[in-house]
Amino acid sequence: MSLIRLAYASEATFDAQPVEKGVEPHVARILLTSRNNNAKAKLVGGLYYGNDRFFQYLEGEEEEVRKTFDRIKRDDRHRNIITLIEEPIEARTFSNWSMKYVPLSADVRKFLERHGLDRFNPQAFSAEQCEEMIELIRDSNHDQKLVNHDEAVTAPASKPSGFSPALKFGLIAAAVCLVGALIYAGSLL
Ligand code: FAD
Repeated sequence: MSLIRLAYASEATFDAQPVEKGVEPHVARILLTSRNNNAKAKLVGGLYYGNDRFFQYLEGEEEEVRKTFDRIKRDDRHRNIITLIEEPIEARTFSNWSMKYVPLSADVRKFLERHGLDRFNPQAFSAEQCEEMIELIRDSNHDQKLVNHDEAVTAPASKPSGFSPALKFGLIAAAVCLVGALIYAGSLL
């Protein structure tokens, strides 16, 4: 029994619906089937979908990974499938995830910015970018929400915090001066 990991990139063939409508229905169906099948085949991994591109990462028994990838390659919902990584591993690293899903999100945008990329194009990823993307999927906590919109690009406006310390000091000093002036004026009468 030998374990392998496999990552590939591909292009979606369907027209994506507007992101504000939520998870792309094609992707939702793919996830449903993947989670079902991968759990039975003891495969783990993650799927990223954005800019009409897929990046998928799978870990498991070599035979099961290859059988699944053969099915995936025949799927007409995507094309131009490029294998990015295919190599033996010691142990699975995506424990508990038959297929973790990450939508286009703030952390992926940051990843693109860091690498000077204007769009998500995993077919052109370097080995280092692949590894970073795998880490990002592994560490992401977006899946539970299953949202498909860009979050947190703008942070919520912070609540007004009242007077600044400098302003407070200035007001207190002004009040002390005013009281002093009133006392002095009173003493002159
Ligand atoms: P089926 O009984 O053949 O189909 C399951 C469901 O998918 C059905 O509702 C069917 O209508 C729908 N479906 C199947 N093919 C199409 C199609 N071409 N167009 C529209 N709907 C379709 N499968 C996995 O098992 N594991 C994975 O990790 C995985 N990842 C995928 C990643 C991507 C990017 C894509 C495009 C597909 C992926 N798939 C994955 C799906 C895979 O390609 C096969 O469709 C699936 O494995 C077939 O499994 P099945 O025989 O159990 O399902």
